[in-house]
Amino acid sequence: MIPISDIRFRTAGGAVVTVAADHEEGLFKYRFVARCGGCGESEYQDGSDYEFALSWPKKWADKHAMGCRALPQEAG
Ligand SMILES: [Zn+2]
Repeated sequence: MIPISDIRFRTAGGAVVTVAADHEEGLFKYRFVARCGGCGESEYQDGSDYEFALSWPKKWADKHAMGCRALPQEAG
């Protein structure tokens, strides 16, 4: 199991970008996915190293949150 809670960034438009572990089977041990709840854009990184797999999606999420002005998607 991956010992982390989801990481969330508030965007300029009020949506939330979430960085979460993706447990899909793959070649690598870890995969983290960043997904914007406003515009729907996403990024991911695979890696056998935890910090490596997490670092790019986290960086992307932080940067994306500063510039994304899309409003949050309606729930449901
Ligand atoms: Zn966005």
